Amino acid sequence: MFFSYAKRIAGQAAPFLTAALFGLLTLAAPAPAQAQAQVYGPGQFAIDGIPVVCGGMPTVVTSNIPDMAMNNGQAILMNPMALGHLPTVLKLYVYAHECGHSVAGASEVAADCWAIRTGRDQGWFPPQAFQLLIAFFRNNPGSLRHPPGPQRVQNMMACYQS
Ligand SMILES: [Zn+2]
Repeated sequence: MFFSYAKRIAGQAAPFLTAALFGLLTLAAPAPAQAQAQVYGPGQFAIDGIPVVCGGMPTVVTSNIPDMAMNNGQAILMNPMALGHLPTVLKLYVYAHECGHSVAGASEVAADCWAIRTGRDQGWFPPQAFQLLIAFFRNNPGSLRHPPGPQRVQNMMACYQS
């Protein structure tokens, strides 16, 4: 009697365990995907409490991009890993640069120019913020499409003053 009772318990326990594990797995699977990409509709995204918007484009916060930020033509993509520790004004600049690609085209220099003039005209990029921009770009070697960091800052200073 005792043996058959124990066997029955074991027989019940096994399917329950399988179901519990399966339940955990199905719950756990979507979580990393949500952590990688959070989508904000136009007008719903804010940087350090400051609402930002780029026309009718949504903003996607995702660590699954090879840069701090991108504009893929459909959305502004912001990388939280790279942006987390920057001063607010630099985060705003990065977002504005990406938005600038929608206005000024593929040129990195033109996107920088648009971003910095927009910051000037809207008041979120005061002249003293160039000190932060200089430090940010000091050791940036540039890339195929991007001039070296110090050259970019020079270009932006010229845009800011014109
Ligand atoms: Zn760019």
